[in-house]
Amino acid sequence: MTINKSYSVDVADIDSIILACHGCKTALNLPPSDIRQDPPQRCPNCGADWFPDHTSDRKTLNVFLASLRDLRKRSDGKVCQVRLIISQPN
Ligand SMILES: [Zn+2]
Repeated sequence: MTINKSYSVDVADIDSIILACHGCKTALNLPPSDIRQDPPQRCPNCGADWFPDHTSDRKTLNVFLASLRDLRKRSDGKVCQVRLIISQPN
């Protein structure tokens, strides 16, 4: 028998998104509640191009962070609570 554990997390409980560089292992926290500017295009430590201009990844990340921020504001649970399911890490 296999048992898979998962957890349900309210979007209001997400404190930050981490951008982790594969090259130098630098980790950068982006708190959705405190977004004042776009996330960096390059790693602040080694300069790796995290979000190349020829892709839409940076715009997608901005939309994702803004969505989290907006959902956190309305996540009062009175009408519909937005929750994420997260599998237990192996
Ligand atoms: Zn790096």
